[in-house]
Amino acid sequence: MESGESKLARPAQSSPWDSPRPRKVLTAVPLSSPACVLCGRVDEDSIILGQKHEKLGFYFHTFCVIFCTGLGQPGKDNTNVCSFKEDLIRTMRQAEHTLCFVCGNVGATITCAESGCGRSFHLPCASKGDCITQYFGEFRSFCWVHRPHQAVEAAPTQDTTCIVCMEPVGDSRSYSTMVCPACRHVCFHRACIQEQALHAGIYCFQCPLCRDRDSFIRDMVTMGIRIPFRLVSISQLLRCEGTGAVLRKGLPQQGWPFAAISMGLSITGKLESG
Ligand SMILES: [Zn+2]
Ligand SMILES: [Zn+2]
Ligand SMILES: [Zn+2]
Ligand SMILES: [Zn+2]
Ligand SMILES: [Zn+2]
Repeated sequence: MESGESKLARPAQSSPWDSPRPRKVLTAVPLSSPACVLCGRVDEDSIILGQKHEKLGFYFHTFCVIFCTGLGQPGKDNTNVCSFKEDLIRTMRQAEHTLCFVCGNVGATITCAESGCGRSFHLPCASKGDCITQYFGEFRSFCWVHRPHQAVEAAPTQDTTCIVCMEPVGDSRSYSTMVCPACRHVCFHRACIQEQALHAGIYCFQCPLCRDRDSFIRDMVTMGIRIPFRLVSISQLLRCEGTGAVLRKGLPQQGWPFAAISMGLSITGKLESG
C-alpha cells in the first residue's frame, strides 16, 4: 500500500551488505525473546511500537501501553504499580475476546476513540487498516472510518509525484497521500514523510518545499505521523557571526523554538512514563 520508499532506501550498489565479508545479522531476534503481552510481537525496538520493557514479569512496548484503551501508566493518572498489574491482566483477558478488524485475530487492545465505535486493532496492524494513531496529547487512535482528514482541499492530479521519492502519488487524496497544509501544493506519501520525520526529529522537521514548521507539524502529528523528540547540539542550531551566534539558515527565525519545545515536551512527557 505504501509505495514511496525507494529514494530513502539504501542504494543497492553501495550497500555494505554486498561486501564479501561474512554478514552479521543485526536485527535478528532470538527465538526465546519474549513477546509483548499487548501486541504479541517480539520486536525489541520499533518506530511504531517503541522500546520493549519488562515490569512485574510482563513484557510490553512503550506505545502498546500508551495507546491501549483504558490502561493507565505507572506513575500517571493515579496508577501505581499494583493497579497497573491488575489493569494489565484485565486488559489481556478482555483482549482474548477482542478481534482485530484488520488481521481478524484476537488480542486487539486499541479501540477507536470515536464514541460508539467498537472497531479494535493491534498497534502493528494500524497502518494496514488505514487507522491513525496520534503520538501526542491523549494518544488517541482512530479506525479508517473515523480517522481525521486533512483540512486542505488541494488534491493531487494525475501526474503529481511525491516530493520525497518522486514516485506518483495517485490522483486522489487517500490515507497514504498527504499534502502540506501551508504551501498546499506539495504532495508526499505518508511513508515518505514518516521516514523524514524520524530522521529530522522534532527540532528539524519541516515541509520539504516551503519549510513551514508550525502548521505542518501540527497537521502531521494529527494525521498520525510520529516525530521523535531528539536532542540536537547547539552547533547544529547556531552559527557564529562576528562575535555573536545566530540561528542557522533554514530554521525559522521567529516563533522558534517555542512550538518545537512545547510539542517535544508534550510528546516526551508522556513517553518517559511508559
Ligand atoms: Zn514518496
Ligand atoms: Zn507491543
Ligand atoms: Zn491485528
Ligand atoms: Zn471508529
Ligand atoms: Zn509546504
